[in-house]
Amino acid sequence: MAARILDGTKVAAEIRAEVAAEVKKLADAGTRPGLAVVLVGTNPASEIYVRGKVKSSEEVGIYSEKHTPPDTISTESLLKLINDLNQRDEIDGILVQLPLPPQVDTKKILLAVDPRKDVDGFHPVNVGNLSTQRPGLVPCTPAGVIEILNRSNVAIAGQEAVVVGRSDIVGKPVAMLLINSNATVTVCHSKTKDLPGVCRRADILVAAIGKTGMITRDFVKPGAVVVDVGINKITNSAEFQKLFAGNAQREESFRIKGSTLTGDVHPEVAEVAGAITPVPGGVGPLTIAMLMSNTVRACKLRRGSRIPELLRA
Ligand code: NAP
Repeated sequence: MAARILDGTKVAAEIRAEVAAEVKKLADAGTRPGLAVVLVGTNPASEIYVRGKVKSSEEVGIYSEKHTPPDTISTESLLKLINDLNQRDEIDGILVQLPLPPQVDTKKILLAVDPRKDVDGFHPVNVGNLSTQRPGLVPCTPAGVIEILNRSNVAIAGQEAVVVGRSDIVGKPVAMLLINSNATVTVCHSKTKDLPGVCRRADILVAAIGKTGMITRDFVKPGAVVVDVGINKITNSAEFQKLFAGNAQREESFRIKGSTLTGDVHPEVAEVAGAITPVPGGVGPLTIAMLMSNTVRACKLRRGSRIPELLRA
């Protein structure tokens, strides 16, 4: 039987609607959440991401501003911008779009963001907050993985979860969130022995690898829930055919655009899994929705004492 599709577009719309309602209440009470996005240089992919973040902020009513220093900027000048944003009370979230140009010390910049405004959740203070279950800001994509599971009524507590990938921005925080939700968690990486065997233990399998279609049916226990975090662009038609031959809708779109987005999970997995997130339309849409949610959370955590009691929860 074909797997149930976990619809990230629908879940993201639900979250954005909730955030918009909350922003309205906060703004009516005199506190409008604000987000500053810093985009250095002219990387086309970064420009698209930033445009999406600014547009989404406008849609939910969050105040947003974009800073676009040139790609020749020094670490010191960028630090000054971050410090200015740290000082401004009406800015609740600061997002520095990565990658930064090579002359800029990325670690130094990310460490300079006030942890209370770190809506990406990358600052070591927030990493510590997550691992010790203290209030803080959680990275957006991992938080989105948990939201899509919870809102699709997938039980996490007591389940065997396997996460493939151990990056600081996806794999590790997803694993930590699953532990905090009482799953029994195994984290795999490129040196893991018998990866298919380990993955087959999973009731919940999360793929965050960056390798097109790597997770095939042999990696999946029948009935497992599979979350595909990967976003990979295919332009090669032989590779496309290997994955999507016979899928008329994809073929038509590939013919028109000359590319398609795919995850780390092979499409054949939908024949064995119990539920699966599609790519596109799975975890992807949740990332920006969770950024909006994090901005409101940052506002409440930092400015909570100035917001009427009613709104603080
Ligand atoms: P990353 O930093 O490159 O990490 C990839 C991880 O996969 C590493 O831990 C690596 O292991 C592991 N890996 C690579 N090849 C492997 C193999 N053959 N077997 C087992 N493990 C292997 O990537 P990332 O930033 O975490 O991103 C992962 C994917 O998620 C990418 O496709 C990215 O585009 C996507 N992504 C999506 C969103 C979204 O909004 N949906 C957001 C962020 C990222 P080692 O540590 O041993 O090298």
